[in-house]
Amino acid sequence: MPTTTLQLDTPVQYVKGVGPRRGEQLAELGIATVEDLLLYFPRRFDLRHQAQPINTLRGDESAATVAGEVLECRFVPRYPRPFFECSLDDGTATVVLKWFHGGYLQGQIRPGLTLAASGPVKVFRETIQLINPRFHVLADVSGVDLSSDELLPVYPAGAKLSSNVIANVIRKALPQIIPLVSETLGAEFRDARALVPRPEAIAAMHKPEDRDQWAQARRRLAYDEVLLMQLALAIQRLRAVSRPAHPLAVNPEIDRRIRARFPFALTAAQDAAIAEIAADMARARPMNRMLQGDVGSGKTVVALYAALTAVAHKTQVAIMAPTEILAEQHFRKVHGYLEGSRVRVAMLTGSQTPLQRQRTLYRLEHGEIDVVVGTHALLGEKVQFARLGLVVVDEQHKFGVEQRGGIRGKGHAPHYLVMTATPIPRTLALTVFGDLETTTLDERPPGRGTTHTQLVGSDQMDKVLDFVRRRLARGQQAYFVYPAVNASAATDLRAATEAAQQFRADGLKDFRVGLIHGQMPGAEKDRVMQAFAAGEIQALVASVVIEVGIDVANANIMVIEHADRYGLAQLHQLRGRIGRGQEDAHCVLVADSTNPQAVQRLGVLCQTDDGFRIAEEDLKIRGPGEFFGTRQHGLPELRVADLTEDFELLRMARRDAFALIREDPSLTAPHHQSLRAALLKAYQGRMGLIATG
Ligand code: ADP
Ligand code: MG
Repeated sequence: MPTTTLQLDTPVQYVKGVGPRRGEQLAELGIATVEDLLLYFPRRFDLRHQAQPINTLRGDESAATVAGEVLECRFVPRYPRPFFECSLDDGTATVVLKWFHGGYLQGQIRPGLTLAASGPVKVFRETIQLINPRFHVLADVSGVDLSSDELLPVYPAGAKLSSNVIANVIRKALPQIIPLVSETLGAEFRDARALVPRPEAIAAMHKPEDRDQWAQARRRLAYDEVLLMQLALAIQRLRAVSRPAHPLAVNPEIDRRIRARFPFALTAAQDAAIAEIAADMARARPMNRMLQGDVGSGKTVVALYAALTAVAHKTQVAIMAPTEILAEQHFRKVHGYLEGSRVRVAMLTGSQTPLQRQRTLYRLEHGEIDVVVGTHALLGEKVQFARLGLVVVDEQHKFGVEQRGGIRGKGHAPHYLVMTATPIPRTLALTVFGDLETTTLDERPPGRGTTHTQLVGSDQMDKVLDFVRRRLARGQQAYFVYPAVNASAATDLRAATEAAQQFRADGLKDFRVGLIHGQMPGAEKDRVMQAFAAGEIQALVASVVIEVGIDVANANIMVIEHADRYGLAQLHQLRGRIGRGQEDAHCVLVADSTNPQAVQRLGVLCQTDDGFRIAEEDLKIRGPGEFFGTRQHGLPELRVADLTEDFELLRMARRDAFALIREDPSLTAPHHQSLRAALLKAYQGRMGLIATG
């Protein structure tokens, strides 16, 4: 292929100086095209300070300093002088660094690190070596003064490609390929936001003149990433709300009838949430809202208010929960509140018999059911509603992305309410749920005790059991939580099953101990949960199935073993199962972690009950992809932007994106062409958002 036709999507091997072999090696790093190469940014920069090029070493210097990337390392336990050695490459040549009695360096010096090393130079068997050099790992870009032009970009290296080789490839290619980068934003728009031009930014990411230039470049590219993401969300939102929906307004009569169903007055927070939801539902456009609130904040009641509003208008409601056990619990609650009313409620789950299911499907389709509660069985192809008015999804992030919005597709667009008890850090709320508006319940219903949380080592289990026995004897109930159902030989987890046996045989032998875990058949789980709710079981040993939604007010003690193996947000949710009654509750986190970070992390839970603070901590520790425990939430991969740091940038991009889409919904204006192309490239197929053509 002649070089004149080089494009962003041209295979990287056609870049000058690359070729097929290097092209293959680059492909292993995910660099397939010219554009991939452009966007393969250094992880950090190091200063080549005072170091001399390795190819200028003679082999007899009494002291020399070199700097480069560690390629291979090995420890040779040879008697009587074991040694550790590694090869160091700075792009000019390779030198061996050797430390006698250097066993302690294993794990400290690894391939891929960038080191500066100083020491005497010798030639041994025709190899130039630095003997017992002093060394330091070079700092990352944030700690380095980038005012020198001796900047050494450090690229993520591959098995066959060192950072230096990649740096050379990119340095040589940049003049040829930077002109291929197009600007996506107008000059005026950029100036107003102090954003540097995109081609300049990409070049400066690889070869900044100083630290400030690098920071400006990073800011521009991070903005581009979050702008595209927010454009995709804005389009998705526009689509969702531009379909017609049944307007379902509340009037005083409806309001009175619904409130009469609840055995308590609603809190101010619940009233405010209901006002927002009611205003949405009164419109002929579908509501698209997330209701978030800590466990026990009273979301179910708010959702039920919305559901009964829909029913009052003779439309149907689908309430979807991520697990059968939660669906059943919702069903029972709804049923309880509606005792003696004419509202017809049914269940639809995967474990029902085909006959039961068929009957429910028939009744749904013929408008003989008002409220259906179920699992993702509700998303089945055969599920037809006569007149669907509202969809309520509990803990939506537990469903896959593909499933998201599945029910919406049918007939008139229903109003859509997502509930979540996982406090979502604000950046994630604007990304994963960025197409939804948010309502937050920030007040707990009155008359609740406080939950005290304590962290102990497993050597304290005797004391913990002592405490639990005293409480059980007073008529309280307790949860014991374990991360896995069966201990595998490889781990030291005490599984729920084993723990239950042990408690029955010994620790809690005078009490009624129950067991519940994920592998149990639904009916059996149900039986156990009911027995616990009825007080027949005093101590319930559980795997994480009790995580969300289970509600037994008399259970106010929770012991979580191996607490260090859970995420903070998950622990917070688990803990939310207690403290639902009037008495104070106690949560005991048991962990034997020798990792001080893990202990510090758990300390956050002992200090605060604020779900949002905990969520932000969790996000910082685990990163956005892991936050929900799975990666499949439609979160695009961000190369440059950092959702834990770039909140202000994200907010700006969000405002811009929503304004752009309001003004030009399909981005068809001539000056939006390259933005549109970039958006199609990044998001088409992924979220199926933007029509081509
Ligand atoms: P969430 O779904 O947010 O975890 P729920 O809606 O299940 O919370 O409510 C938790 C508990 O508080 C339930 O037992 C419910 O009956 C009770 N509750 C909800 N709202 C109120 C209120 N306004 N006053 C008193 N109790 C309430
Ligand atoms: Mg709930």
